Amino acid sequence: MTTVVQNFLPFHRASVAEQEKRAVLDVLESGWLTTGPRVREFEAAFAKYVNASHAVAVNSCTAALHLALAAVGVAAGDEVVIPTMTFAATGEVVCYLNAKPVLVDCASTSYHMDVDEVARAITPRTKAVIPVHYAGEACDLDAILALARQRGLKVIEDAAHALPTSYKGQVIGSIGDITCFSFYATKTLTTGEGGMATTQDADLADRMRILSLHGISRDAWKRYSAEGSWRYEILEAGYKYNLTDLQAALGLAQLQRCDSMRDERERVASLYSNALGRSDAFQVPSMRNSNSHAWHLYVIRVNEDVLRIGRDQVITELKQRGIGSSVHFIPLHLHALYRDRFGYAAGQFPNAEKLFDNSMSLPIYPDMTDNEVTRVVGALLDIARKFRR
Ligand SMILES: *Cc1c(COP(=O)(O)O)cnc(C)c1O
Repeated sequence: MTTVVQNFLPFHRASVAEQEKRAVLDVLESGWLTTGPRVREFEAAFAKYVNASHAVAVNSCTAALHLALAAVGVAAGDEVVIPTMTFAATGEVVCYLNAKPVLVDCASTSYHMDVDEVARAITPRTKAVIPVHYAGEACDLDAILALARQRGLKVIEDAAHALPTSYKGQVIGSIGDITCFSFYATKTLTTGEGGMATTQDADLADRMRILSLHGISRDAWKRYSAEGSWRYEILEAGYKYNLTDLQAALGLAQLQRCDSMRDERERVASLYSNALGRSDAFQVPSMRNSNSHAWHLYVIRVNEDVLRIGRDQVITELKQRGIGSSVHFIPLHLHALYRDRFGYAAGQFPNAEKLFDNSMSLPIYPDMTDNEVTRVVGALLDIARKFRR
C-alpha cells in the first residue's frame, strides 16, 4: 500500500507531560546522568506504589526477568514453565540461563495460561513458573501460587502489562516471589526503555541489585559521591542492566500520573466496549473487573462466521482508513526458535492458536480523545458492513 493517509492514528502514542520534561532537564543540569539519586528515589516510590518491600530498577523488563530467574537459582538444565501466549522476552530469559522454557496452552476462553496444564507440565527439573498478566488483567494467581508452593516452585510474575493491576484487592507487585515490570515505550508507564523487579525478600533484592551492575559490591554513584571510596569488589560475573537517572526522573514523574492515566485508558475501553459490543462482527473484552485492569491492551476478536475476511485483512482495512493496530501475540511455539530448538509444533496448543488467529489490539492510550475512539469504532463498523457474509 502506497497511499499516504493524513492524520494517521497510531497504535500507540506515549503520554509525556510538562513535569516529565522538566524532570529530565533537571537531571541534565545536575551533572550526574546515569544511576544515582533519582534511581534510588524511583525505586522507593515504585515499591511504595505497588506495596512491595524492595524494588530494583533495571534497563528493561527483560533484564528484570533474567535477574529474577538468576536470583531464585535457575541454572543450566532446569525447566521454567511459561505461557505460549506471551512476548519473546518471557521465554528468551530462560534460554539465557541455559534452562528450558516449557510452554503451556491458554485456558479455553482466556489469554491466560491454563493452570491445569501448568500442573501437567511440571517435572522434577522444574524450578519456576512465569505467569503473564496478559493485557493488564491479573491471571489466577491463587491457583498458581498454591500449585507452586505444593511443588516447591518459584513464581516470577511477568507484569509487563500490569501497572497498575490488582488481584482480589491486592495490587500486583508483592504477591509472587518476584514481579517484573516494563517501562518500554508502549507500556503503561514509560521511561523510553526501563524495567523494575519488586520483591518482599531482601536477599533476592540484594542479589538482583549486585547482578544488575557487573556483580560489583557497591554502585558507582556511591563510589563517586563525597562519602564514597574508589574501592570495589567484583563478587561474580554480573550484567550491565542499570537504569539511568535521566530515565528514573521520567519514571518518577510518570508514576505521579499512573492512576489518572489508567483511568483514561479505562475510559477508552468503555467507549469501545459500549460501541463494538453491539456488533456481532467483533467480540469485545469483558468489562466485569474493569477497575482492577491496567488496560494496557484492548484486544478484540474478529468473528469469522459473520465476516468474509479474517483478522489480517481487518488490520489492512483499518490501516487504509488511517488507523494503526497490532497483534499480541504470535504464540511462542509457532516461532522457529521453539520449533527448531525445543521441538514444538503448530497444532500443539489449540486454544492459544484459536485466540491468535482472530485477535487484534486496538489503539488505547491516555491522550486518545473520544473523537479518536469514535473514529476507530466507525472504521470497524464500516469494515463489518462492507465485508459481511
Ligand atoms: C514488553 C514485554 C516484555 C519486555 O519488556 P521490555 O521492557 O521491553 O524488556 C516482557 N513481557 C511481556 C509480556 C511484554 O509485553
